[in-house]
Amino acid sequence: RIRRRTLECRWDIDALTPSFLSIFESLVPAEEEIAKQKQLLFSLQNLVNKEWPNARLYLYGSCANSFGVSNSDIDVCFAIDDTDRNKLDILLKLADVLQSGNLQNVQALTRARVPIVKLMDPVTGLSCDICINNLLAVVNTKLLKDYSQIDGRLRQLAFIVKHWARSRRVNETYQGTLSSYAYVLMCIHFLQLRKPAILPCLQALEATYAVTVDNVECAYFDQVEKLHDFSARNKESIARLLWAFFQYWAYHHDYTNDVISVRTGSIISKQAKDWTRRIGNDRHLICIEDPFEISHDLGRVVDKYSIKILREEFERAADILQYDRNPSVTLFEPYAP
Ligand code: ATP
Ligand code: MG
Repeated sequence: RIRRRTLECRWDIDALTPSFLSIFESLVPAEEEIAKQKQLLFSLQNLVNKEWPNARLYLYGSCANSFGVSNSDIDVCFAIDDTDRNKLDILLKLADVLQSGNLQNVQALTRARVPIVKLMDPVTGLSCDICINNLLAVVNTKLLKDYSQIDGRLRQLAFIVKHWARSRRVNETYQGTLSSYAYVLMCIHFLQLRKPAILPCLQALEATYAVTVDNVECAYFDQVEKLHDFSARNKESIARLLWAFFQYWAYHHDYTNDVISVRTGSIISKQAKDWTRRIGNDRHLICIEDPFEISHDLGRVVDKYSIKILREEFERAADILQYDRNPSVTLFEPYAP
């Protein structure tokens, strides 16, 4: 296939920024929604502590990483130090305990890849998934949130990219496309590599935060308020960044050799990670290294069919941003088979 390489973007690219920013604004959840989430977490915490006084609940995922759109379900992690009981027993007990509260549709999904308890809270109207001891997700949630505080353009870019991915149906891991978490990492990495850089590499700076979770050391510089002028020299508009993001994934990323790595703030080689061939179900057709579980490729869900769909969608998006008269509409046109 012929790879087109666009060297320069359209002359009026920056004029598209206001329309993309208004899309971003329309997706950001209202303050009261955040308050409702806290309220639900608080009442769940009280219920759980009746049975387990030392257990804690943490929000993770998009309700806590600052990349959540309004009306999303909330993800909760139940952290408990109960080594005697196995995870599934704890899950069933947890469902029992929650049944006693004023909650609806409490179900334990013990056979899911990640076993969870699902429930709906009639007071706030929120649905929630609770997993057990998935503390790495709590830590990577904090990392994403910390990155989002450094430059507002990350949040804008990631919201727009997630909105595009949902509209185009390429945010469905069970269909072989990428998770929201993977898209946010792609945005962070992209902004780390701008020249001048918009984001630093927090894991390459002196660690001010360090925890060991499931034998994985997680350490990075988390005093992000000290980095508020890190990106001052880069003045690129959100429309220009969006254009460059899709150009990168459509025409510049080297799918054969490269791995994107937020951990190092650079591109590393598939060779170095031994990700050059299929092992089991991991095909490594698009490689996105998890910042903490570094043997974990977030692109591993992608197969030989979905990689084609994904790349065609990146190309479509790049071409729309380059040539279309009304990119802020066309980009999000629902995928219709
Ligand atoms: P959405 O707005 O689509 O709900 P989300 O940020 O909640 O987005 P998900 O992809 O649903 O993203 O993942 C929820 C959280 O679970 C992520 O924020 C991340 O902390 C963790 N997570 C998801 N997938 C992985 C993975 N493959 N490896 C490690 N952690 C993951
Ligand atoms: Mg989620």
